[in-house]
Amino acid sequence: MSRWIMHVDMDAFFASVEQHRNHPELAGRPVCVGHDPKGGNGRGVVRAASYEARAKGIHSGMPVSQAYRLCPDATFVNGEFESYGIAADEFMEVLREYADGGRVRRASIDEAYIEVTEGVEIFGSPRNLASWIQDSIWHDAKLPCSIGAAPSMSVAKVATGMNKPRGITVVGPDPLDVLKFLEPLPVTAINGIGRKTSERLEKFDITTLGQIQRMTIPELWPAMGRGSTWLYHRARGIDERPLIDNGPRVRKSISKDRTFMEDVEPGAIEYLHETLGKMCGRIGEKLQTKALRFKTVTVKMRFSDYSTIQRSKSIPVETDSPDVLQRMAVEIFDHRRDQEKSIRLVGVKVSGLREASEQLCLTEFL
Ligand SMILES: [Mg+2]
Repeated sequence: MSRWIMHVDMDAFFASVEQHRNHPELAGRPVCVGHDPKGGNGRGVVRAASYEARAKGIHSGMPVSQAYRLCPDATFVNGEFESYGIAADEFMEVLREYADGGRVRRASIDEAYIEVTEGVEIFGSPRNLASWIQDSIWHDAKLPCSIGAAPSMSVAKVATGMNKPRGITVVGPDPLDVLKFLEPLPVTAINGIGRKTSERLEKFDITTLGQIQRMTIPELWPAMGRGSTWLYHRARGIDERPLIDNGPRVRKSISKDRTFMEDVEPGAIEYLHETLGKMCGRIGEKLQTKALRFKTVTVKMRFSDYSTIQRSKSIPVETDSPDVLQRMAVEIFDHRRDQEKSIRLVGVKVSGLREASEQLCLTEFL
C-alpha cells in the first residue's frame, strides 16, 4: 500500500473569506483586500485579490491606486483579520475528519498537509477523496481550495500549485511518475529553494529539477554543500518526513474595540473606565477558555478629530489575570489620553500570548 499525502491550499484565501463568508453579495465580483483607493488617490497596497480581480491584472502587493486604475469596478474591503483566523480553524476541522489519525499539519494560515493513506483505500482513489474534501470544505466552511495528492509532502505541495483555483492534481504512486512530474519544473518549484539558492544553482547551470535528477550527491556538492543530500532527494520526490500534527493555531493577539455612538467628553472618566473594564472582562474570558496568558497590553484611542494613538505596556512574566489586565489598561489610558479631546473609539489588545501549558509546542522540534 503506497503512502498518500494531500496538500490543501485555500484559493485566494482572504478574498474568498470576504466573498463567501463576510460579504456573500461580492461572490463572483472583483474584490481586493486593502485600503480604500479613494478614486485612485488612496495609499497602501492590495493585501489579497480575488480571482476576478486577478483577471484584471491586479495582484497582492500592488498599490491600491494602481489596482483602482486597472479595475475601477473592484470592491475594496479593509479586511477583518479575526475572521480569517476563524475561517482557517473551520477548514482545518474539516481536514481533521478526513485525515488518518485526525492529524493535520498546518503550513500557514491557509494551507495544510494531511496523510490520507487509509482514506484513499476507503474512497477508492486519491482524486475521489480529494473531490469529497473540496466539497466538504465548500459546504462547511464556504471556502474554495485546491488539492495536491502525492506519496510525499514535498511533491503534494508542488502538485497543488499546478492547477488553481479549485483544482485537483494527483502525482504517483509510481516513483517513475513522480520523477517525470518533477523533471521539467524549475528548481524554485521545491519548497525551500528561494531566490538565493536558485541563483547559486544557476551559476552552475542548474535550472531544472530534471538536471538534478541526473546528478549524484558529490556532483551537487560544489553548488549545494551540505544541502546536497536534501536537494538530491527532493528533486526525486523523496521525502519521508512523518506527518506530525502541529496543534491548534496559536493566536497572536486578542482585541476588542468600541466606537461610541456619540463622541464621549473627556470628563466622563468613570464611563470610560467602565467601558474599558467591560472590554477587559471579555478578553479575560477568551484568555481563560483558550488557556492563554498575555505579556503585553495595548490601548488604542481615537479622538473626535480622528487622530489615533496606541500605547503598549508589557509585564515581565505572562499572566491571565483579568485584574492585572484591567489595571494595566486603565493605567495606559489615564496616562495617554488627551484631556482636551472627546473620544470616538477605545480599544484594548493583549499580545505576546503563550499557552498556559507549554507542552504542546515542543514536539515539533524533537
Ligand atoms: Mg492559498
